Amino acid sequence: MFYYEVALNNYPLAPLTYKSENKLSIYVQVQVKLRNRKEIGTILKEVDEPSFKCVEISEVLDLTLNEETIKTAKFMAQYYFCSIGEALAQFVPASIEQKNIKVESVNTQIELSTKQKEAYEFCSNRKISLIFGDTGSGKTEIYMKLFEQMLSEGKRSIFLVPEISLTPQMQKRLEAHFGEHVALWHSKITKKKKEKILERIRSGEIFIVAGPRSALFLPIENLGLIVVDEEHDDSYKANSRPRYHARDMALLMGAYQKIKVVLGSATPSLSSYEKFDTFRLRGGYFNSARRFNFHNSTDSITPAIEEAIENVLNSKKQALVFLPTRANFKYLHCDDCGHTHSCVFCSVGMSLHRHTNSVRCHYCGYTEAIPHVCSKCGSEVLKTSRLGTAEVVRFFQEEKKHIRVAQFDKDTITTQKKLVTLLDTFNKGEIDLLVGTQMLSKGHDYHDISLSVILGIDNILGMADFRSRERALSLVVQIAGRSGRSSEANVIVQTQNSEFFAAYLDDYETFLKDELEFRRELYPPFKHFARILFAHIKVNNARNDMELMLQNLNNFKDVEVVGAGTAAIEKIANKSRFYILLRSDKRTELLKAISRCKTPLAEVDIDPIDFV
Ligand SMILES: [Zn+2]
Ligand SMILES: [Zn+2]
Repeated sequence: MFYYEVALNNYPLAPLTYKSENKLSIYVQVQVKLRNRKEIGTILKEVDEPSFKCVEISEVLDLTLNEETIKTAKFMAQYYFCSIGEALAQFVPASIEQKNIKVESVNTQIELSTKQKEAYEFCSNRKISLIFGDTGSGKTEIYMKLFEQMLSEGKRSIFLVPEISLTPQMQKRLEAHFGEHVALWHSKITKKKKEKILERIRSGEIFIVAGPRSALFLPIENLGLIVVDEEHDDSYKANSRPRYHARDMALLMGAYQKIKVVLGSATPSLSSYEKFDTFRLRGGYFNSARRFNFHNSTDSITPAIEEAIENVLNSKKQALVFLPTRANFKYLHCDDCGHTHSCVFCSVGMSLHRHTNSVRCHYCGYTEAIPHVCSKCGSEVLKTSRLGTAEVVRFFQEEKKHIRVAQFDKDTITTQKKLVTLLDTFNKGEIDLLVGTQMLSKGHDYHDISLSVILGIDNILGMADFRSRERALSLVVQIAGRSGRSSEANVIVQTQNSEFFAAYLDDYETFLKDELEFRRELYPPFKHFARILFAHIKVNNARNDMELMLQNLNNFKDVEVVGAGTAAIEKIANKSRFYILLRSDKRTELLKAISRCKTPLAEVDIDPIDFV
């Protein structure tokens, strides 16, 4: 009999020991039983016969992971505080019978400008590089040239993009150049389609896989390059366990597998800008043709903004309106007692959705009919605040019937097909005004926007979070970058902080330098942060666990407790929440302290970006 340590996919457990009559290879995947349930696991190593009784491995699968994957997963488990099984579950295994068909090289003839050539050479000569390129400066061509170079060497590339999927026009360009050798990978493609793509990856036909963070974990042999586009984007950070950052995992895999990593952004993150060799790619199609106007009003379509939009649309041009909030309004308050109508399961206000005549909690999804009286004092005078996308759309639909308006957010764009259709319709000129959230800024190509209106940005700038300046400014730069493609454009920013935006909007690099100075003694990238969350139905359980960990942490001199107590959102899905925020100069000290002091409820978030 042989005995093996098996890590079970998705289980927050240490590996378990199973037995087998046959000798098995390590890293092979197997089916095993745990409490009478069939589970998939990975054999980590052979062990001696244990003193306890073992269950036999039910089935050996034709799937395996390689040594580098195991090494990467082990790092993920250690660094991000998850089980090895939870880390391994992120990776798609390879077939044991790996076929590798050589594909003859593809001649794509990508033409680069002199400046683009310089950027390409810059990346070619470095293991890790950052292209800090303005919107429209042609980063995509440089990536494509790099893919082409890999292809000619018989090596594969991963092209990481934020969010659910690639922008439709990027997909078109990749397919036009690389045809059958490109595959798109994301969570919304069907299981059947995924199988097909995996088969094509296994057969060696696919040379470039493009997709969001999960594309990083496909079984790609002979990988030569990972490109992380829009590397500043927060969607690269997973918000459930394992809470990894895909850009940082890409960099780690680059180091482990000795492959090139290229990061790109018009608004690079402070940490990448600080750490990596940067190529500044200036220019773009609009450069001098954009004018910023600051409106010192809050959260509403003022008559001045209404007029600006009308003027643009009258001259047969297009406009977009950005808001950080979806729904009609984020909050519903009582005008008499001030009570905010909140979710029964979470300590957050419920958002008003007129379309479904309901209020909805954006944290747990709980929905109820729009109340007509205050739940606290019974007053019938309820008012709304924090304007959302749906309300702006409703305003134009009802008050300005001649304007063709469309909504662009998570509530309306639920599939890739809807995204493609909306962008097509807009670019054909069949929509005048696009109203949306962050989704508007994700690198989509709008042909002729002459006016961008940015509302509610002060809500982001004012968040109690050391990254709020970076987030607000990069968002405005990214949204402004969507306009003025074919003619000059105006950008209206509704803010009470016009000095801040005016100082940096045309000069993101100066912002990065100033912000680095501001953070030097206190924040990342100079200091390392970890946030520990404790959540439990019973408030005392959560609090006690937090306090116990806090006590344990006292013994670690190199780790500073920045804050601890009730979380900004006290309750989500009926669980009371407490937190500890830690800071250290040394990553290793931080990890050591956490692993020694961790209590059962502690949910660890390393390099956190979310502080609610
Ligand atoms: Zn009231
Ligand atoms: Zn809720």
